[in-house]
Amino acid sequence: MPAEVLAVVNQKGGVGKTTTSVNLGGYLANSGKKTVVVDLDPQANATAGLGITVTSDEATVYDVLLEKVPAAQAIQPTRQAKLFILPATPDLVGATYELMDQPHREYRLRRALKPLLDEFDFVLLDCPPSLGILTINGLVAADRLIIPVQCEYYALEGLNQLLQTVELVREHINPRLQVLGAVLTMYDRRTELARRVVRQVRQTFPGHVFESVIPRNTELAEAPASGTPIIAYAAESRGAKAYEHLSEELLTLYTQ
Ligand code: ADP
Ligand code: MG
Repeated sequence: MPAEVLAVVNQKGGVGKTTTSVNLGGYLANSGKKTVVVDLDPQANATAGLGITVTSDEATVYDVLLEKVPAAQAIQPTRQAKLFILPATPDLVGATYELMDQPHREYRLRRALKPLLDEFDFVLLDCPPSLGILTINGLVAADRLIIPVQCEYYALEGLNQLLQTVELVREHINPRLQVLGAVLTMYDRRTELARRVVRQVRQTFPGHVFESVIPRNTELAEAPASGTPIIAYAAESRGAKAYEHLSEELLTLYTQ
């Protein structure tokens, strides 16, 4: 079976995209699924969070999108078995401009990943906080989407625009694209607000909200500094259990 390509997407920043990409990646790898996280954000948080410092002679997702190197050449192992990263650096900002006048600019990532699909089980695309060309590359390359939604005020703001963009990509470029599910993140069970957001999100994505709800959890915020997913930092924490549950939930979708 070729790899399943999942884009973790929401044009809002700070909602848990990177935390979800890295930690879901950690648990999928731990379940024996060979997984690569593709860092599509110039902030390069997934790269750092997986303990990777890119040296000047190493290729990144930027070089891949500009077709300077094949993706296989830029992918690096992480400290966790079966978990790999296609890293980014802040240079990735430049790709937005450099791709502007290039042909097939929306298809670059999809093309680049193609030769790798038989080698991996999962490809997780950690998208940047915008609906620009990098996210579009993610939507074009993906089979399905995971949408982290933070349990906060304005949680649903922007989701319409995201879903409209998804619809356009589906109509014009990538008819396979589906929303796999929304993941509620940074849930604080003590607040009425968090419970209200959960209800609203379930109404917005009927049947497409993961049962696993990710709590607000200090260990999840600390783990990136150790350069590993939560499984290797605080496997017993509530945040770890939530991501473990999310990965199990995801895997059952593929065994039905
Ligand atoms: P995004 O990639 O959508 O911008 P991040 O995953 O980087 O969001 O999360 C934003 C910030 O919130 C980061 O500092 C991260 O460590 C922290 N964070 C994310 N999820 C949680 C959580 N469940 N509990 C506590 N802190 C979290
Ligand atoms: Mg991020």
